[in-house]
Amino acid sequence: MHSTQTPSASSGSIAVVGAGIVGLAHAYLAVRRGLRVTLVDEDSGPRGASVRNFGHCCITGQTGAFASLAEAGREHWLAAASAAGFWARESGAYVAAASAQELRVLAEAAEAKGTDRIRLVDGEEITRALGSRATSAVGGAHLPLDLRVDPRTAAPRLAAWLHAHPAVTMRMDTRALSVTDGGVHTTRGFLAADHTFVCTGHHLRGLLPDLAADAGIRECALQMALVDAPAHFTTDAAILTGTSLLRYDAFATMPAAQDLREHMEETAPALMAAGANVMVTRRPDGSLLVGDSHAYAPSTAPFLDEDTTDLLLESARSVLGAQPLRVRQRWQGVYASSETRPLVLAPVGAHATAVTVATGVGMTLAFGLAAHTLEALHTGSPAAAAPAG
Ligand SMILES: Cc1cc2nc3c(=O)[nH]c(=O)nc-3n(C[C@H](O)[C@H](O)[C@H](O)COP(=O)(O)OP(=O)(O)OC[C@H]3O[C@@H](n4cnc5c(N)ncnc54)[C@H](O)[C@@H]3O)c2cc1C
Repeated sequence: MHSTQTPSASSGSIAVVGAGIVGLAHAYLAVRRGLRVTLVDEDSGPRGASVRNFGHCCITGQTGAFASLAEAGREHWLAAASAAGFWARESGAYVAAASAQELRVLAEAAEAKGTDRIRLVDGEEITRALGSRATSAVGGAHLPLDLRVDPRTAAPRLAAWLHAHPAVTMRMDTRALSVTDGGVHTTRGFLAADHTFVCTGHHLRGLLPDLAADAGIRECALQMALVDAPAHFTTDAAILTGTSLLRYDAFATMPAAQDLREHMEETAPALMAAGANVMVTRRPDGSLLVGDSHAYAPSTAPFLDEDTTDLLLESARSVLGAQPLRVRQRWQGVYASSETRPLVLAPVGAHATAVTVATGVGMTLAFGLAAHTLEALHTGSPAAAAPAG
């Protein structure tokens, strides 16, 4: 079948290389469509960017095609959480704004997106959400469409659900060596499939070096910490800050963003130099994920910079209106980045597709993207580009 046809419901087989959230979403939605799936990962389970992030589906922050993918993925995230039994909350996100410049960006974004999607809130509400009058925030916005999941358990539980499914064959500790029209050559032999999805994140260059070079794929390294939550902080909503407004297009493309950038360069040069996106999310056990910085290189150095961690912690502490935060863990996350192609959705021969999110929103896009590529495969155009926005 693989030479002339694409898989059809209840008869086809697909291989998925990579058990991060992008590969898992493809495997999950393929099973839901009645396909047989072989899932291959060189590690023993999800260990990459998909377990190292904030667990924030930043749906409202997207524009164009990414907004369509993010919104389309929302229902699938919730259905997958319910099926696989992982923690997910429709708690949305708060942007805690500390300056008039931030408030202006939010007001413009609310006008552009609609006040039902970006609901401006006053100082009282943001204080209530954060649980502290000592916060540096003076107002902000609530983004009700955004979702929260727990990054430490969402991908592993989805992988466990797939492992138990009769239509799925898991090949962990197995490295894909090359992809052909009939399947995947791996360190444990050849795995036949009608169609293969290559979802290897920033490792794309290991398997498909020419495609990775063409797409300008490099690595982005981020510093993160897990801290004890101050007793007053109880919201499951993600907390975004002024630096976040410079990173997500729904805010960063607003006319007032330029003023905000200049204001931040002047008042917070160290945060800007670190490429910070100061954010806080709460895990189900009450601990807080705090980050992050951004450093770009073809291949990033593994070392964590203590000054950067201190900077991020102090900035988060000030927004939370808390005492100094006690760190339990620190780690580095790495994701794929490209200045020219934030999404690589490319044919590899006639019967394989490479799917790499090359910017920091893979959790947000994974399910919408998988729904899109599987639908394109079903309709016979597997190499289709991302949907129009
Ligand atoms: C610190 C941090 C914070 C972030 N915060 C957010 C956030 O809040 N919201 C959001 O939307 N996104 C966020 N992101 C981005 C998001 O985490 C990533 O975009 C997403 O996890 C990428 O998923 P993936 O499946 O493509 O890659 P990965 O999770 O890296 O998975 C790739 C998998 O492929 C496997 N693999 C690679 N090569 C091979 C091979 N040859 N053979 C077999 N297996 C192979 C690897 O072992 C790995 O398991 C964040 C990222 C980081 C690092």
